[in-house]
Amino acid sequence: MNKQSGGCACGAVRYEASGKTEFAFHCHCRKCQRITGSGHASAFALHRDDIELTGEVREFEQMADNGAATYSGFCPKCGSPIFSRTVRFPDRLYLHVATLDDPSRFEPKFVVYEQAAQPWDYIDPALQAAPR
Ligand SMILES: [Zn+2]
Ligand SMILES: [Zn+2]
Repeated sequence: MNKQSGGCACGAVRYEASGKTEFAFHCHCRKCQRITGSGHASAFALHRDDIELTGEVREFEQMADNGAATYSGFCPKCGSPIFSRTVRFPDRLYLHVATLDDPSRFEPKFVVYEQAAQPWDYIDPALQAAPR
């Protein structure tokens, strides 16, 4: 995936992204479940310098299970989650894939926190467990 664009549900937040996807995954942790209101978050990581955001993004801070602070960036107008970031990998932004204008290009490779997955949520057996 090279040139990509996306934004929130109401359009107040928009981004243009380029560069190489560093990590494409489904995360089944409880935090992603709550943030997305669904069984998992589907996201991909880019270097933060490769993303140009416009519009106001607010961040909500919480502690990950490994003790590192994580931030969930969302549009304060419509509440759509846009990205996550963690102090553990300060150079990365994890964009939520459905914010893309063309989410069909997403190619997930990893599954994270599969042990927290809900019994009704599907896990593709072809995906690898993520390196921690
Ligand atoms: Zn919005
Ligand atoms: Zn998660």
